Amino acid sequence: MFLTISTSGDEQHPATDLGFLLHKHPDNPYSATLSYGTAHVVYPEADAERCTAALLLEVDAVALVRRGKGKGRGGAPDAALAQYVNDRPYAASSLLAVALSGVFSSAMRGVCKARPERAAKPMPLRVEVPALPARGGPELVRRLFEPLGWAASVAPVALDSAFPEWGESRYVRLVLESEKLTLAEGLRHLYVLLPVLDDAKHYWVAPDEVDKLLRAGEGWLPDHPEQKLITSRYLSRRWSLTREAMERLELVRLAETDDSEVEEIDNAVAAESEADEKPTPLAVQRRDAIIAALGASGAARVLDLGCGQGQLVQALLKDPRFTEIVGVDVSMRALTIASRRLKLDRMGERQAARVRLIQGSLAYTDKRLKGYDAAVLSEVIEHLDLPRLPALEYSVFGAARPRTVLVTTPNVEYNVRWESLPAGHVRHGDHRFEWTREEFRSWADTVAERHGYDVAFVPVGPDDPEVGPPTQMAVFTLRTTTTNTPDEKEAKAA
Ligand code: SAH
Repeated sequence: MFLTISTSGDEQHPATDLGFLLHKHPDNPYSATLSYGTAHVVYPEADAERCTAALLLEVDAVALVRRGKGKGRGGAPDAALAQYVNDRPYAASSLLAVALSGVFSSAMRGVCKARPERAAKPMPLRVEVPALPARGGPELVRRLFEPLGWAASVAPVALDSAFPEWGESRYVRLVLESEKLTLAEGLRHLYVLLPVLDDAKHYWVAPDEVDKLLRAGEGWLPDHPEQKLITSRYLSRRWSLTREAMERLELVRLAETDDSEVEEIDNAVAAESEADEKPTPLAVQRRDAIIAALGASGAARVLDLGCGQGQLVQALLKDPRFTEIVGVDVSMRALTIASRRLKLDRMGERQAARVRLIQGSLAYTDKRLKGYDAAVLSEVIEHLDLPRLPALEYSVFGAARPRTVLVTTPNVEYNVRWESLPAGHVRHGDHRFEWTREEFRSWADTVAERHGYDVAFVPVGPDDPEVGPPTQMAVFTLRTTTTNTPDEKEAKAA
């Protein structure tokens, strides 16, 4: 099996610099013995205009089986022959990815003492993989590579070129071209995506694979639209590892967005919406509305889900009605700031016993969230991609099931009242959506119905006759009379 990497150049930037970047000299064939075969690097062409490096991997099928990890395609444990006779020697796979990282490890890290400026800059790249097992079809190949800046040409390979009527095999010939990427980026894309397309790792996926994935995915995986599929397939669908990787990717993404923006924008909204001299910032109005609703519900033990930097937790601590307050957030950075704000390390024993900050993702059921009187989701739902919202819905309303749930979210209709916000823009860069009153109500009604809650709606901030208030709040109360909610039916059936 092999792949080639080519670049073009001129007298000033000769293409043969590729040799420096790959740390393999174009004139000297290179070979390395790996545990399952031999890797060779040769240059079919190398001059100033064009230079191509080919990575060839000779797989020793016997060695692969002897290591006890060679999986026969098709997976039948008794298919002894399939362990030896399979596509492993021919098709680009996780084996090739491992060889790539072994042979070009410095290049993958972008390290090149001889030509540091070339290593750091995008260059013309062409990668050809003659036989790629494309699980998910040519369409998936494009969806994986194109968002990364590659032009991908994907040609199905005939099962047997002598018998075209037999149709196509599940292999494709892949050609990737780009001028936008550095060599290191290109290699890291291949290192992750070849095994994703192969979808059958030749080795047992250990927990340190998450680290490898995040390292190779740095700078591109956190924003890739197929992040979930890539993560899950790369980790051989080991759910616990996939979950860990997804959470860590989310942390990276959140760390890159600045939450201080939230308050600034809220303050701007309030300043513009109120005619009186000292407007109460919308964030403060929201906290007041939340505390009033919590008070009315009689809650004492409260979860602040997606607590961010802890402003609400701080306000709740000042109110003796709340005896236990737990702030939950997926962002470690937000929790660190919250803990500093609350001065957790200097708090007296009695206060400290009332408050806890824990890291967790609301997209997953979490036993620690059970048994509370109330949960607050203040300006959180709009930070989740819509397809992940049902997961949050289940973990809060289906699993944690507090008696009261408060959900606040921006009312997008109000955005026209906010002059500094360009038309059609959301209030914060990390908002995945902003809803009209109608959309929020319809979501909340469905959630309430599905999980056996009643729901009421409360405006927060000035309630504009035409477009409504800047913030909308839903107050969910667990119904005590009905017994057969879908959740309970499910619980009984289980
Ligand atoms: N509740 C605060 C912060 C809102 S910003 C307030 O009203 O000011 C949204 C917060 O939700 C961020 O701190 C973000 O880290 C958190 N968040 C986003 N997705 C999350 C998830 N899946 N699980 C837990 N927290 C999440």
